[in-house]
Amino acid sequence: MKLSTLQLYLLLALFSLLFTSIWSYNAFLKIEQENDRIITEAIPISNAASQLFPLLLDQELTVRSYLLNQNDQTFQQFKTTNAELKETMAWLRMLDQRHPIMKQLLTEEAIPLIQRTDGFYEQQISWIQDNQVERATLKRYSGMDYINQFRPINAKIRQDIDNIIQEATDRSKAASASAKWVIVIVVSVAVLLLMAFLQTIRLERSKQTLIHRSLHDALTGIPNRRAFDEHLETSFRVAKEQQTDVALILVDVDEFKLYNDTYGHLKGDWCLEKVADSLKKHASEYGLVSRYGGEEFAVILTEQADHVKQVAERIRSEILQLNIEHAAYQPLCQLSVSIGVAVVRPDDTLSEGDLIILADQALYRAKASGRNQISSHEAS
Ligand code: GH3
Ligand code: MG
Ligand code: MG
Repeated sequence: MKLSTLQLYLLLALFSLLFTSIWSYNAFLKIEQENDRIITEAIPISNAASQLFPLLLDQELTVRSYLLNQNDQTFQQFKTTNAELKETMAWLRMLDQRHPIMKQLLTEEAIPLIQRTDGFYEQQISWIQDNQVERATLKRYSGMDYINQFRPINAKIRQDIDNIIQEATDRSKAASASAKWVIVIVVSVAVLLLMAFLQTIRLERSKQTLIHRSLHDALTGIPNRRAFDEHLETSFRVAKEQQTDVALILVDVDEFKLYNDTYGHLKGDWCLEKVADSLKKHASEYGLVSRYGGEEFAVILTEQADHVKQVAERIRSEILQLNIEHAAYQPLCQLSVSIGVAVVRPDDTLSEGDLIILADQALYRAKASGRNQISSHEAS
């Protein structure tokens, strides 16, 4: 199937639409993936960061009790809490350092403060163990200062993580809402384009049907007089350029008026269909077979102009062999045709009309000589 320019444009529009939809769907998918990634990264950071504050408080408590009773069990408790804090810090350092919470709050504020706090508690422990309990007691409130400094940082970490998760969730929701709209719009436009495309195919088909009808005979289905005229004109032009012959066979049903009068017009129509079928079957390989008008048919031959007489004879005998009864047509009593043949080599002095006249004159001679025969005029 050959596509028209409009159909090509419509197909192009359809494909670009499909491409855009796939592209935007991918873009939305990426936004969702990116958001999922941010959320899954924020959660471990949030889990680890939320342990920092209680661990600091635990550390403060164990150091305070160690300061009061200096017993070994309390020291062990401090060591456990301290190890847990260090582990959490190490874990936080391992997590993605590019993460906004990690960068701004943990790396720049929380971790240095915890290190300082840790340093202070180590100092307290070493003073207690060096029997400088008084010195450690004097400084005992500094730990609480550090913890108080950590309180707003802790609140900020929690707030930031909440915000990040909220933002990512909102972005994902917005992306999927936009994706839904893009899909709705793309599908609707694609359907419209497809309908327009199908409509152009339908129009093209009905145009082809109209063209076919305008060039074909309604009764017999073979090319009509208009097709004959166009083909003869083209054949003449080509033959003139190439210095070759054009031959015309005019076929006229004998005593057809009488046939109609005897059997009626409907039977007459059926008869013309049979004649047309026979012509199509036996002559169309040699040239254009057409209904010239009424009960007259024509065959235009170009390349096979040399075979014109054989073709004419074949037509005559094949129609006779149809064995269509024509009782009133004496003495033959069956349907026959008379044929006029003319062959010319087109030049400036000869027109298409001249060829028709010559073939017609030949046909007249065939009629005058008793019908059911061929008469020809050949170029001199
Ligand atoms: P001739 O042998 O001299 O050609 O005699 P004829 O009767 O065939 O010639 P004439 O020109 O007197 O009559 C042609 C007839 O063809 C008259 C017309 O009614 C008939 N005819 C023309 N077209 C049709 C058609 O489409 N259907 C039918 N049934 N008859 C048609
Ligand atoms: Mg006639
Ligand atoms: Mg006739």
